[in-house]
Amino acid sequence: MVSEAGQPAYRARQILDAVYRQKVQAIEEISTLPEEFRARLACDGVQVGAARIEKTFVSLDGTVRYLIGFADGQSVETVWMPVGDGGEAGDGSEAGAVPERASGRSTICISSQVGCAVDCRFCLTALLGVKRNLTAGEIVGQVCAVLKHQEVTPPEDRINLVFMGMGEPFLNYENFMKAVRLLVQEVGIAERRLTVSTAGIVPRIHEFGNEAIRPKLAISLNASNDQLRTRLMPLNKKWNLEMLMAVARDFPLRTREWITFEYVLLGGVNDEVQNAKEVAELLRGLRCKVNLIALNPGPGIEFTTPSPERVAAFQNILRAAGVPAFIRRPRGRDIFAACGQLKRTIEVATLPEPQLQRIPPPPPEQ
Ligand code: SAH
Repeated sequence: MVSEAGQPAYRARQILDAVYRQKVQAIEEISTLPEEFRARLACDGVQVGAARIEKTFVSLDGTVRYLIGFADGQSVETVWMPVGDGGEAGDGSEAGAVPERASGRSTICISSQVGCAVDCRFCLTALLGVKRNLTAGEIVGQVCAVLKHQEVTPPEDRINLVFMGMGEPFLNYENFMKAVRLLVQEVGIAERRLTVSTAGIVPRIHEFGNEAIRPKLAISLNASNDQLRTRLMPLNKKWNLEMLMAVARDFPLRTREWITFEYVLLGGVNDEVQNAKEVAELLRGLRCKVNLIALNPGPGIEFTTPSPERVAAFQNILRAAGVPAFIRRPRGRDIFAACGQLKRTIEVATLPEPQLQRIPPPPPEQ
C-alpha cells in the first residue's frame, strides 16, 4: 500500500505506530503522514480504528463489559477486569502458568468471532450461532479501544490478555494468530501474558504447538467422559476425549508452562465425586492445572449453578489426586460479563428487575 503510493517504506512504520501505539481513530489523525498521502488513503477506502466502543456496562465488582462495533454494523463483547481480585481465583489470567500468587494485573478478555459455531449447551454465545470471523485488525482493535478507554499503555502498564470472549479462536485460526503477532510486536503485550482458550479443535491445537510466537493454551474440558462431553459439547463427536488428551499430551510445553483445563460445573450433571475422579484420571501425569468455573446462569440455559460447597468438594478431590485445581471467581455476573454470558446483551440493561434478581449471587471468594 505504501510503496504502491510511491511513498518511502518508513511510512508503513508510521502507520503501524499510529494505529497500534497511539491508537488513532481516523486516518486524518495520523499527523506524521503528509496531507496528500492521508487524502489518498482515505479515498482508497482505507480505514483505521475499525473497532468502536458502542456501549459500556460496569459491574459492581469493577468489571466492564464493552459492546464493540465494527464497520459493517456487527458487534462483539470485550471485557475489562481490573486488578485487585487476587488473580488466580478470579479471571483466569494465570491460565497456563505455574500456579503463582496474585498477579496484580488487569485482564482484557477478547472475542475472536461474531457469535460462535461451537454449540456448547451451557454457553449463551452459542445461542447466537456464528455470524462471521473477526479480522486480525478487529481482534486487535478491541484491545486498542479498551486500552485507550482505560488509559492504559503497554508495555509500561502490564496487562493480561485472554482469548476467552465470544467465538472459537481456533475456528478463526489465521486471523487469531495474525492478531497475536500484532499484539506482541506492535501493541507491546508480552507473549507470556496471552492465553487462548479452545473448546478442543484438535488439529489446530497441534498446529498451534508449532507456532514461534504463541499464547499459553487453555482447553475447555467441561466433562469427564465422552458420553457426558458429547451431550454438553456436541463437537466431542468429532474430536473425542481420546483425541483431545492425545494432542494435549503431545503439546510442546515451554519451560515453566502448564496447560490449563477449564471445567464448568453444572449442578447434578458433571459435578459428582465420580466426575472429579474421572477428571483426575484423564489428566494423570500431564503438566496441567484445572480452573473450576461454577455455571454462570443466563436466559435459555437449562442448567443450575452448584453450591459453593459442591464446588469446593470437587476441587478437593482433584487436589487429593495431585491435580492442581483452582476456583475461578465470577467477574461481572450482574452485567452478563462472566464466562459464557457474552451474547451482545444490550437487552440486559432493560431486563425486568425480577429476572436480574434471580441471578444467584457469586459464591464467596476462595
Ligand atoms: N470457545 C473457546 C473460548 C471461549 S472461553 C472455548 O470454549 O474455550 C469461555 C469459557 O467459558 C470456556 O471455558 C467455557 O467452557 C466457559 N463457559 C461457557 N459457558 C459458561 C457458563 N455459562 N458459565 C461458566 N463458564 C462458561
